[in-house]
Amino acid sequence: MKVYNYTGLSKQKVQELCSRQIEDDKLVEERVAEIINSVKKDGDKALYNFAKNFDKVELEKLYLDAAELKAIAATIPVDAKNAIDTAYQNIKTFHQSQYKVEDKVETMPGVVCWRESRAIEKVGLYIPGGTAVLPSTFLMLATPALIAGCKEIVVCSPPQSDGRTNCYLAYCAVLLGIEKIYLVGGAQAVAAMAFGTETVPQVYKIFGPGNRYVTTAKTMVQNKVAIDMPAGPSEVLVVADDTANPSFVAADLLAQAEHGIDSQAVLVSTSNKIISETLKEIDIQLANLSRREIAAKAINNSYAVLVDDLDTAMEFSNEYAPEHLILATEKFESLIPLIINAGSVFLGNLTPESVGDYASGTNHTLPTSGFAKAYSGVSLDAFVKKITFQHLSPNGLKNIGPTVEVIAAAEGLDAHKNAVTIRLNKVEGIK
Ligand code: NAD
Repeated sequence: MKVYNYTGLSKQKVQELCSRQIEDDKLVEERVAEIINSVKKDGDKALYNFAKNFDKVELEKLYLDAAELKAIAATIPVDAKNAIDTAYQNIKTFHQSQYKVEDKVETMPGVVCWRESRAIEKVGLYIPGGTAVLPSTFLMLATPALIAGCKEIVVCSPPQSDGRTNCYLAYCAVLLGIEKIYLVGGAQAVAAMAFGTETVPQVYKIFGPGNRYVTTAKTMVQNKVAIDMPAGPSEVLVVADDTANPSFVAADLLAQAEHGIDSQAVLVSTSNKIISETLKEIDIQLANLSRREIAAKAINNSYAVLVDDLDTAMEFSNEYAPEHLILATEKFESLIPLIINAGSVFLGNLTPESVGDYASGTNHTLPTSGFAKAYSGVSLDAFVKKITFQHLSPNGLKNIGPTVEVIAAAEGLDAHKNAVTIRLNKVEGIK
């Protein structure tokens, strides 16, 4: 992990550090375009082929039904079942609290406007399953979809080496009342949900994180379907001062690094001592991780920055716009107002990112690669559309009519003007 001194960095170098460097973007794009075209052309046949090529399994059918899921779910260990139940309750409680009925507003006497939410009818959820199967992502996506009232929830996840899914995903399906999991992964899953195949239904919006193939595919199918956001390789930025605990900071950085070799873990600290002790701790903790090879590669691509004060740390963080921001300082309260760009924030020394990844209640599907500058993470809002309504009383028509007539005339749109005039004449009794 490289260490930089912020004072010596040029503006260009800061920008370079904040840009997520992905070397073979073009190659991934070409590969994904081929995959999408192949799914469009050959439908299910392409999905069977990709499962064979990428996931190394010969599938007999492309999904698991309710009975198969129930049988697999029954094999879940009790402690895992209980933990998933607890996480689900917290995620449900937090997302239910996001349900709000908006007030009706009288913008002028007799002119009433308001918004109502309607669920997106068909949604597609991608649950990663390449290097690790993520039941937590299943909970994070399906829980708000169910609260919103989405009618059709299509779930895709890569088949595991036995051609099925694991007991954790199957248990989530049973818990959530989802009756099918399509055994389709990667860019081909995104293409299948965007265009539909003989087996996989087409949806209106695709959700879910994934590796670069998944994220690139989501970006490419946007002229056909909506997507939640580009949620790619995970990243964390930890702001630490001398009140931080280096072992905790190292654990948080490694928690991110073990996601994938392209994950990024950034430490921004006001203390040289904290940086050097954290680096030592990383080496110690890394040795005990089952995914140490992946984590070590990710840590190699990561870096630490020494800054003069916490204000500068927050400036750097806002430029980086991290998916996860950990404020490893006792002074976290005073930093909250300084946060402009971040996906989800973890406050103080006792709040690891892992709690948000799994169970605190907040959503873990978050914008990466700097997209936190403009995107929010997944929430209940992502599964609904807001429809606006307006109603005019006779008095309202009289009040607003002349304004609309004048603007319509100014724009040269006679029919627009007439749609008002014809009603005003009626209300005012003019023939
Ligand atoms: P994945 O399910 O995203 O991808 C696996 C699939 O990738 C395979 O089924 C295969 O179809 C495809 N694939 C693999 N190699 C390929 C190749 N050479 N060409 C074409 N397709 C290929 O699982 P994963 O790989 O474990 O990645 C999960 C990702 O999700 C990680 O990068 C993790 O950081 C990220 N993640 C992000 C968030 C977030 O909110 N941003 C949350 C959880 C996970």
